[in-house]
Amino acid sequence: MAVWAGGALLAAGGCAHLATTTLSASAPAVAASMVTAADGLPDRSEVTAGQLVIHADFPLAGQHRLVRELDGLRTDVSQELDLPVSDEPVHLYLFENTDRYDAFVARRFPSFPARRAFFVETDTTLSVFAAWQDRIAEDLRHETTHGYVHAVVPAVPLWLDEGIAEFFETPRSDYGLHRGHVAHLAGRLLEGTWQPDLDRLEALSAAGEMSQDHYAEAWCWVHWLLRTTPERRTLLQDYLADVRRDPQCRPLSMRIRHELSQPGTAADDVKRHLAALGGVTLER
Ligand SMILES: [Zn+2]
Repeated sequence: MAVWAGGALLAAGGCAHLATTTLSASAPAVAASMVTAADGLPDRSEVTAGQLVIHADFPLAGQHRLVRELDGLRTDVSQELDLPVSDEPVHLYLFENTDRYDAFVARRFPSFPARRAFFVETDTTLSVFAAWQDRIAEDLRHETTHGYVHAVVPAVPLWLDEGIAEFFETPRSDYGLHRGHVAHLAGRLLEGTWQPDLDRLEALSAAGEMSQDHYAEAWCWVHWLLRTTPERRTLLQDYLADVRRDPQCRPLSMRIRHELSQPGTAADDVKRHLAALGGVTLER
């Protein structure tokens, strides 16, 4: 399935998932808290939906299907990951077109690579910036997931943050199955150029280091944890509960190695999981 052919969306890397990023409060020169309406932020309308405060360039009804969906996502994220919900506002700034959005980003975040949407966390605010375009629903599900997760687990590791956001960016009816990533990784498997490696993902420290392979693999680990056995699902949930309290807690890779009933085979199992999803027959 050539889903990623649509990746021509972006010149750099040709990957739609490079269109999203998470920037931590420590990201250089990102003073999002200093961004004001004078910078051209959308302020024509404001809609509140649960934790979301949506600022748009255009009239947006509170009952708009996408608003309801994003509000409902809060419950899905909380239940899947067994995390509490927070009341901390997540601000969504929706620009009416890419020209307005691009001009804003160039002015306020000039060092950023071209992205369709992004999430910024500072000490005081959680904000999403996005242009209204064809893939706005997917982009907002992804970025809003970052907001919901960061509101309760600010120290979530980068790879897991992205893996979770990729999981929840899929339409709800897909139940976390990311067909684009399945197709991409299945292609890699057929080429013999992909081997899951959670240690490698855990070593990533900057969004700019993350390639399409990393996004896809991060999704794959999250899907394997949440959608295969109750034991694995609980392991991820327990890890998130721990990292919420103590960012220095034992890494997930170590727990998978030592706490699952079939230790040592996780990478092979993840590979088999992906192969089954992608209809790839693995050589024995
Ligand atoms: Zn992201």
